[in-house]
Amino acid sequence: MTIQKKSDAGWCFDNSFTHLPEVFFSSTKPEPVRHAGQILLNDTLAEDLGLNVEILRSTGAQVFAGNEMPPGAMPLAQAYAGHQFGHFTNLGDGRAILLGEHLTPDKQRVDVQLKGSGRTPYSRSGDGRAALGPMIREYIISEGMESLGIPTTRSLSVAATGESVLRTTPLPGAILTRIATSHIRVGTFQYAAALGDKENLSQLLAYTVDRHYPELQDSDDLPFVFFEAVLDRQADLVSQWMLVGFVHGVMNTDNVSIAGETIDYGPCAFLDTYHPETVFSSIDHQGRYAFQNQPSITQWNLARLAESLVQIAPGNPEDAVGKFVEILETFSSCYEKYFQIGANAKLGLTTLEKEDSVIYLDLLKIMEESQLDFTETFVILANSIEQSEVDPEFTKVVGKVVGNLVGLSDWIERWYQRVAREPGSFVDAAKRMRTVNPVIIPRNLKVEEALVAAESGDLEPTYRLLEALKSPFSKTKENEPYQKGALPGSQPYCTFCGT
Ligand code: AMP
Ligand code: MG
Repeated sequence: MTIQKKSDAGWCFDNSFTHLPEVFFSSTKPEPVRHAGQILLNDTLAEDLGLNVEILRSTGAQVFAGNEMPPGAMPLAQAYAGHQFGHFTNLGDGRAILLGEHLTPDKQRVDVQLKGSGRTPYSRSGDGRAALGPMIREYIISEGMESLGIPTTRSLSVAATGESVLRTTPLPGAILTRIATSHIRVGTFQYAAALGDKENLSQLLAYTVDRHYPELQDSDDLPFVFFEAVLDRQADLVSQWMLVGFVHGVMNTDNVSIAGETIDYGPCAFLDTYHPETVFSSIDHQGRYAFQNQPSITQWNLARLAESLVQIAPGNPEDAVGKFVEILETFSSCYEKYFQIGANAKLGLTTLEKEDSVIYLDLLKIMEESQLDFTETFVILANSIEQSEVDPEFTKVVGKVVGNLVGLSDWIERWYQRVAREPGSFVDAAKRMRTVNPVIIPRNLKVEEALVAAESGDLEPTYRLLEALKSPFSKTKENEPYQKGALPGSQPYCTFCGT
C-alpha cells in the first residue's frame, strides 16, 4: 500500500480495493461533463475529512463533477450482484465511480465515490448519469440521518454537470460525491460466490474483515463469526430505522452495506402518520419493502449473505449450513434487543420490564387507528409527562383533549405508572425523551418543496432545510416550519427511484 502525499486540497488517497483480484472491479474514468458547477458542499464533513474548504469551493467542482482526478485517485467501478425484489442479477457500479480511499486526519479510511459520473462497464442499458433532484434528495436525507445519529453514508458535494439527463422528461444532471466507510455490499459477496471461485471469496472476506471487523481476524471460524457480526450491525441499523419511522424503500441485497451503514438513498422517505404498511416507492407494488417488513427483509438479505459464505465455511457443507441457520435464527432476538432498548428510550424508560414491549406496541396501534403523526406523537408525549408533573390535573386535561382518540388516555395512564417506577422525576423522563425523539426529520413535503425549488435554480429552501436538519432534537422558532407533518387525509406520498 502506498500512502500518497497529501494534496493542497487535502486529498490523501491510499487505495486498497485495487489489491483485490481484478474480477472485483474495472478501472474506468468518469466521463467529463460540459459545465461543472458546485451546487452543495458539505463544509463540516470536508473539514472532518481534513479537506481544505476554501480550495474545494474555488476549484473542487472540477473534481466533484469528474472532470479532474485528485492526486492519488485510482478511479474504478466495483462489481457486485444482488437480489432485486427477490430476483438475482449481476449488477456493479453502473453510474458510480470510486475515486479511491481517502485517509482522514485521524486515519479513518473512507471511500470517495462519484454517483452519476457516466457510463461504466456495468451500465447495461443505463446512461450512467443522475438527475439533480435525486442527488440533492440523497444529500438531504443522508445528512439528516447522520444528525439523527443513524449509521449512514455521507454526502460531501452535489455538482452540476451542465448537461441534461433524459428521464420521462429532460432534467438537469448532477453528480453526488458520497463518502462511505466502504461500498462493500451483501451483493459483493453474492457476486464472488456466483463466480464460484473460493479463492476470490476468501480474499474478499479477509479484506472485508481487515477493513471493518479487525477484531475477528484471528478467528478459526471466520465465515461464521463474520456473519454473526454483520447480522448484529444490521439488526442494530434496522432497529434504528424502525424507531425513527424511516422507510428505505429498496432493500435489495446490493443496497445492504457490510459495514452496517444506511446506503443507496433512492425512493426512501419518513413516515408522517403512522401506518405499518406504509410504502412510498412507486415501483414497490407488492409492498415488499413496506415499513413493517424491514426487519424480516433484513433477515432475508442476511440469508443471502450466509448462502454466499457457505462456500468457504470450514467443516462439511451440511454442518456449515446448519451453523449458518442457527446464527440466522438469532436475528429476531438480536433485533428485539436493540429495538426494545430504543423503544424504551423513546418512552423515557431507562430500565427494562417484561411488559414494556406491549406498552410500545399498544402505542403504535393507537397511532395507527387514530392516524397520529409518528414523530409528533413522541414530542407530545414528552410535553405531556412534563406538564403532568407541574400540574397533576393535566392527566385529566390530556384525557379530555385526546379522549376521542382510541384508547390514548388509558394508554397515557398506563405509561405514567410505568415511568413512575423509573428513578428520577417526570421532568427528568421528559428531558431524556427529548434527547432521542427528534422534533425535525426530513419531512416529505419539505424535501419535495426544496427539490422543486432547486430544479428551478433556487437553492434557498434546500439550504434552510439542511440547516434545520442539523439540530433534529432542538425545538426553535426558526425550525418550526420543519416540525409539522402532512395533514391527515393528505394525498399519499409517492417516491421515484429517479434512475
Ligand atoms: P440502485 O437502484 O440505484 O441501487 O441501482 C441498481 C443498479 O442499477 C446498480 O447496478 C446501478 O449502478 C444501476 N443503475 C442505476 N441507475 C443507473 C443509470 N442511470 N445508468 C447505469 N446504471 C444505473
Ligand atoms: Mg444500489
